[in-house]
Amino acid sequence: MANSISVIKDRCTGCTACVKACPVNCISMVDRPADEGSRWKKLAVIDESKCVFCNACVEVCDNLGEKTSNKGTFKAIVMVKETVAGKPEIDTASYKGVWCYGEVRHGKLVSTVYELLFLGKKLAADLGEPLSAVLIGKNVADQARDLIDHGADKVYVLEDPMFENFVDELYTNALVDLIRQEKPNKLLLPASTIGRSFASRVAIKANTGITADATELSIDKATKLLHATRPSFGGNLMATILCQKQRPEMATVRPMSFPRAEKQSGRQGEVVRVTVDASKWNIKTKFVRFEPEKGDAQDIAAAEVIVAGGRGVGGAEGFACIERLAKVLGGAVGASRAAVDSGWITYRHQVGLTGRTVRPKLYVACGISGQIQHLAGMGSSDVIVAVNKDPEAPLMKLATFSIEGDMFEVLPALSKELEKRKGS
Ligand SMILES: Cc1cc2nc3c(=O)[nH]c(=O)nc-3n(C[C@H](O)[C@H](O)[C@H](O)COP(=O)(O)OP(=O)(O)OC[C@H]3O[C@@H](n4cnc5c(N)ncnc54)[C@H](O)[C@@H]3O)c2cc1C
Repeated sequence: MANSISVIKDRCTGCTACVKACPVNCISMVDRPADEGSRWKKLAVIDESKCVFCNACVEVCDNLGEKTSNKGTFKAIVMVKETVAGKPEIDTASYKGVWCYGEVRHGKLVSTVYELLFLGKKLAADLGEPLSAVLIGKNVADQARDLIDHGADKVYVLEDPMFENFVDELYTNALVDLIRQEKPNKLLLPASTIGRSFASRVAIKANTGITADATELSIDKATKLLHATRPSFGGNLMATILCQKQRPEMATVRPMSFPRAEKQSGRQGEVVRVTVDASKWNIKTKFVRFEPEKGDAQDIAAAEVIVAGGRGVGGAEGFACIERLAKVLGGAVGASRAAVDSGWITYRHQVGLTGRTVRPKLYVACGISGQIQHLAGMGSSDVIVAVNKDPEAPLMKLATFSIEGDMFEVLPALSKELEKRKGS
């Protein structure tokens, strides 16, 4: 059943309130035929092809209906909206396979796809269905072999010059067309900046459900449904979300929440080149230019060593000793939300539930207490060193090595020693 909207002739007074309320100018007033015998001269007519079914006209007409003493007039617009419950049930059994989206940024494949393949492989095995990867970009076909070596049975390649830069609308249409054609059962995307914005659009257009930012995923043995778990209520609860009736079941997966799939050179796999027809998409957005963030700070998401500061740093200038230690260790600078919210350092450095998830080989937490929301972003680091004045702080208990003391004494001493050893 599609959306529909209509005007009840007998109730319309031709007051033009709906015309003024309509954001897309799809309502006009026409003269009523003289022989109609109505006491009103004008009638509202809605161009359904332009209507976005936002309900603004219905609301304004209904409100007038509440206020007026003119019985039998207003409340003249009736809209019937397609609801999820009203949608035709899809044949879920015809959707097969697990897909992993390979994000390409500035022409380069982002390593999150290997984490998705690790996870996808397990889900596909539990379902007894194949694992596929999807690549969209300008020159991406060369990457397909590597994805097969990392576990993909099939790689769909959508290669075209128009995909040189990521444009939400363009990529969404391309992926949704492929979904409609190939009918995957489960679809995983990275919960990166691009993935978060892109995946939600895909889910809406493909008419399915999505779990954002999942940290655990599994297949229910009995129902074969995807159980996607994510932290909610500030990390105090873990919610498991199901999408029972629509396909594909979609999830964005937190980068660094899973290890990379192992490489097995020479695996058998199929590369499917997909031809795209963009003529029917009516794209309204275009890529203008990319403005890189200024500064040469290392990205925490890819760093093997992170030295992070929290409220204990005491101010923006306090980050100087964090930066010094990060420099000698060849690492990046991270921060707790308390430090970011205080304006001492920018958000891109924030580690945690509402920041980035990191999985470095070494995480040095300085003046950070270790609340659950911070641990959610760095708890899987290989080695954790905590520097804190308070031995009872949660991170001091979780850390591999805990150094009790003032970070402004400990960090300079550590940096000095390491610089001496490096000869810098
Ligand atoms: C929905 C939600 C999402 C959140 N998301 C995040 C998130 O993504 N990331 C995040 O970090 N937090 C997040 N938080 C906030 C989180 O709950 C904590 O408030 C925050 O992590 C505390 O930061 P902190 O450890 O730096 O500060 P505090 O908890 O105040 O700890 C400061 C620590 O510094 C120590 N200290 C002070 N001076 C020194 C010194 N000179 N030398 C050594 N140690 C010293 C103190 O003993 C103390 O342990 C979120 C909260 C909510 C509700």
